[in-house]
Amino acid sequence: MAADKQHCDFLIVGGGMAGCSAGYFLADKGSVIILEREDQPGYHSTGRSAAVYATRYGNATLRTITRAARSFFLNPPAVSRRGSKRSMTPTTSLDSTPPR
Ligand SMILES: Cc1cc2nc3c(=O)[nH]c(=O)nc-3n(C[C@H](O)[C@H](O)[C@H](O)COP(=O)(O)OP(=O)(O)OC[C@H]3O[C@@H](n4cnc5c(N)ncnc54)[C@H](O)[C@@H]3O)c2cc1C
Repeated sequence: MAADKQHCDFLIVGGGMAGCSAGYFLADKGSVIILEREDQPGYHSTGRSAAVYATRYGNATLRTITRAARSFFLNPPAVSRRGSKRSMTPTTSLDSTPPR
């Protein structure tokens, strides 16, 4: 490993959905380095996600974050490569989560 020192305002450990999302928003406020121990980002849970927006999935913290992200998904800041500004589309899924 090179002995060069790197400086940043924000150091994020983990290049999954959480770390990359934090990095995206923090990049407006300073320099960001994301440390990922695998050889590519999104290798673990993020890479296995079915990418279904489900407000009943996970614990209370996760459900709160999911609800808070809704407006971002409906109006993402960048136009996707497919030409649609919307990053969510309706789909059909079978949800076996018990009622909370
Ligand atoms: C099969 C499956 C399906 C899913 N489907 C959905 C779904 O449809 N909808 C939904 O909302 N959620 C779904 N989820 C859950 C969702 O994928 C996770 O909640 C989310 O991806 C977690 O993101 P994360 O960034 O917290 O974790 P991760 O994606 O696991 O990222 C953490 C990263 O940190 C890295 N790391 C850890 N320790 C270190 C270290 N010491 N140094 C450097 N790097 C480190 C890891 O290598 C990893 O890349 C699903 C999960 C699974 C497994």
